Amino acid sequence: MKILVINCGSSSLKYQLINMEDESVLAKGLVERIGIEGSVLTHKVNGEKVKIEQPMEDHKIAIKLVLDALIDEKHGVIKDMSEISAVGHRVVHGGEKYAESVLIDDNVMKAIEDCVDLAPLHNPPNIIGINACKELMPDTPMVAVFDTAFHQTMPNYAYMYALPYDLYEKYGIRKYGFHGTSHRFVSKEAARMLGKDLRDLKIITCHLGNGASLCAIKDGKSIDTTMGFTPLAGLVMGTRCGDIDPAVVTFLMNKLNMSAAEIDKLINKESGVLGLSGLSSDFRDLGEAQENGNERAKLALDVYYYRVISYIGQYVAALNGVDCIVFTAGLGENAADGRERICKGLKYLGIEIDDANNSSARGKAMEISTSASKVKVLAIPTNEELMIARDTRAIVEK
Ligand code: ADP
Repeated sequence: MKILVINCGSSSLKYQLINMEDESVLAKGLVERIGIEGSVLTHKVNGEKVKIEQPMEDHKIAIKLVLDALIDEKHGVIKDMSEISAVGHRVVHGGEKYAESVLIDDNVMKAIEDCVDLAPLHNPPNIIGINACKELMPDTPMVAVFDTAFHQTMPNYAYMYALPYDLYEKYGIRKYGFHGTSHRFVSKEAARMLGKDLRDLKIITCHLGNGASLCAIKDGKSIDTTMGFTPLAGLVMGTRCGDIDPAVVTFLMNKLNMSAAEIDKLINKESGVLGLSGLSSDFRDLGEAQENGNERAKLALDVYYYRVISYIGQYVAALNGVDCIVFTAGLGENAADGRERICKGLKYLGIEIDDANNSSARGKAMEISTSASKVKVLAIPTNEELMIARDTRAIVEK
């Protein structure tokens, strides 16, 4: 069975065609600048890259080109579109309605549309992508896999904000959490690597990329996560501020006469380690600058790591213990120094890192704690596309 995974952004689209017999990636690629001058499709097969540059007015045209690339005589990997058994779509927000992935029908489309208010930047392009695929492949089953779904198991005392209750009832204001597909994937992988049943483990997964979140997982279920009503809450990120006193927002609106849109841009795009350092949102740049004596880069990293270490402590309390900590995403998978720094701050848990293993875990799944360590520490590359494909397969086979 071959499954196409689609992740649609407002002007971009990522795809992978996965052969579910051995879970290998047959082809993958990225379309950029959809609806903007300079549209380009980069298609990768067997380590080779093909660039197709041509105007793409909308997502339907982009998806048509992706399908053409997949069946192309030269760089295609299938003979006919009918070889694609199903399409799995990443959808950011499923609200309170979806705790699991779901076969897309008219009711599901309506529910995704109902969540546009909650994810105005993300759900609309997801909807456009699904509709475009439905038009081009009307007989192929489509599945929606939600970023929020995994966190629907949080207890109400973890997801409720202490605001007037009717705001929750009227507008759905609560913590939802994101990156759920990634937290779910790496927690399953962790249990597999440790040879344990997921239901017997207390795990803290650390998704540390440009966007970043932690998740506390008990019995295989998310019981808390750092992102909130939007992906802005919690950890300090590349350009997002993470937790701040909410009164800062009203203060700035009054003092600088800033509009809601201006504040939104400030806290989403101009803050985080970029805002603190005034230099870069990329942790590699900041590490280098710190080594060269840049004080603001040092401060940005100090704030960033302090927040991660403190939140892990909070989740150890929420879980009443921890068996395993997992690092994933850009920094979590690749930065041995970052993992070491976080683990040093968790010495009180009896964590011991195997330096050789930690240094060699770069983009590969490895246990990086010593055998004497009281808590297992793993670095695991996330694979949201594979998780989406697995869910899609399970649903269409049902
Ligand atoms: P996204 O959230 O955009 O999917 P990724 O998970 O790809 O992001 O993570 C990208 C981030 O990972 C970049 O900001 C980069 O700073 C960080 N990163 C990647 N490799 C390293 C590394 N070796 N050391 C520190 N940070 C890294």
